[in-house]
Amino acid sequence: MDLISTYIGFDCRGLEEVVAAKMDDATRQIMNGFNHFKTENYNKHPELYKELAKGQTPKFMVFACCDSRVSPSIILNFQPGDAFVVRNIANLIPSCDKVRYSGTGAAIQYAVSTLGVKNILVIGHSKCGGIEGLMKLPPGPPPPSNLVEEWVKIGIPAKNKVLEEHGHLDFDKQCYHCEKEAVNRSLKNLMTYPFVADAVNQKTLTLMGGYYDFVQGTFELLNP
Ligand SMILES: [Zn+2]
Repeated sequence: MDLISTYIGFDCRGLEEVVAAKMDDATRQIMNGFNHFKTENYNKHPELYKELAKGQTPKFMVFACCDSRVSPSIILNFQPGDAFVVRNIANLIPSCDKVRYSGTGAAIQYAVSTLGVKNILVIGHSKCGGIEGLMKLPPGPPPPSNLVEEWVKIGIPAKNKVLEEHGHLDFDKQCYHCEKEAVNRSLKNLMTYPFVADAVNQKTLTLMGGYYDFVQGTFELLNP
């Protein structure tokens, strides 16, 4: 009832009627979505949420694309507390850089050094618009206002490898190979973070790549 209390006004109609009249589609979806989660998940697992109130010890850190079709919690059935998730365009991980991309670096450092995650999983996916943008990237520096092009440039080494090895294939197939190669590149870039390299060398952290094909409905783990 708290969520809808803002809709209470000086109106003589019934509360439900006022709420229904004033709620738009998006508001209704948010409220229905949370109500579903509360009754089907939160209320059914009080012990889990009691534990999570004390802190989090996620088994995974996960990198996934922002794409609305590839939520890792949905496709891998992660429950609250299972995965510390970063989502960005094309699930790219930049090399360690204290000035640029520090938001990504801070998340990795927190996951590895503070939470002590045991696995970092980078998930690429089919029909990735970010990877398509990378493959279509014109030569030369992008215009300063184009943040998307500036970001996907992180994947240029993956693109170059794909063009070298699969340049004879049609564009869609090149994109498919780049969706996977960009995951490999991100795993390599992870090793430029000193705390990641230390944890991997001490065998307390494993780096993993995955590929989700939502056209075929398949998920595969990639060999590093
Ligand atoms: Zn994507």
